[in-house]
Amino acid sequence: MEYRFQFKPYRLPLRAPLRTAHGSWTEREGIMVRLEDEAGRVGIGEIAPIPWFGTETLAEAEEICRKLGDKVTSAALDAVPARFGCVRFALAAAREIQCHLIGDIKKNHLPVAALLPAGREALAALPAKLEAGFLAFKWKVGVGDVDTELGLLDELLAELPTYVKLRLDANGAWERRQAAKWLARCAERPVEFVEQPVRPDDEAALLGLAADYPVTLALDESVTGLAAAQRWQGLGWRGVYVIKPALAGPLGEIAAWAAATRADIVLSSAIETAVGRAAILRTALTQPLTSRAIGFGVDGIFGDRRWDGPVLGAVLDKGWIDAVHPEAIWNALN
Ligand code: MG
Repeated sequence: MEYRFQFKPYRLPLRAPLRTAHGSWTEREGIMVRLEDEAGRVGIGEIAPIPWFGTETLAEAEEICRKLGDKVTSAALDAVPARFGCVRFALAAAREIQCHLIGDIKKNHLPVAALLPAGREALAALPAKLEAGFLAFKWKVGVGDVDTELGLLDELLAELPTYVKLRLDANGAWERRQAAKWLARCAERPVEFVEQPVRPDDEAALLGLAADYPVTLALDESVTGLAAAQRWQGLGWRGVYVIKPALAGPLGEIAAWAAATRADIVLSSAIETAVGRAAILRTALTQPLTSRAIGFGVDGIFGDRRWDGPVLGAVLDKGWIDAVHPEAIWNALN
């Protein structure tokens, strides 16, 4: 099979700067790819790297696109090396849409986890999110000191109805002893899981904490690519894997891995536009990937519906996916 191949780098401002451990993020840069087959069928994919998460850089991704040229074969697409997970995610998504390989919607809906701000602000943000019907929340921890945040945890739990789930994300901020204090406290509380309690390179601490405490732990920064997740599986990891499909590789490979190993997956956003997001969320409803709330609860990242897509509220359903038109987004980018 031969395709006509085009790509468009994009640079889109974020509605509000994102604070990360690697500084403030004010705009999202990526590349849209477009494949058209001989019958004129078109698929659009999105390359959205995060190099400090261990992915390829934007320049490397662009280099690959340039080398592919304006006519590509299936074999050339398949030959993109495994370490270019973001490029492979985008090309596979464009090819699947183009080939209509995508399956029927099997799940009617999935809950969306709302992101609560760090610190005491979480308490202020909570009522509106509960009112909006959210059934799962993620609270960023490891930002303030341990005892203050543990006090806030109890205040937060007191405000949550019992049917609501709370997950915590430390982004690797704790030392092992701090993590142990948190996990001992969480053991007696209804916490869905604790994400990345310590740095990804402290593998002994991650495995030790998982063995020592009954609370479910999740790996995020530790598992950027599918290969890393598989390696952790080999180490005996029994907890959750937070997978950002836009960074991890082709959705079909992730779905096959999940089906074969029954890995416990949480799908998460890598700050992509509605193009990448629609590919991921369609797979979430068509494949038995996950039943946990999806980590796409930051709506309006760009503050522009052209790139954010329709409002994504407390629940994802097919209607959201049907309302995204990747080709229109491609055309709207200059
Ligand atoms: Mg995380």
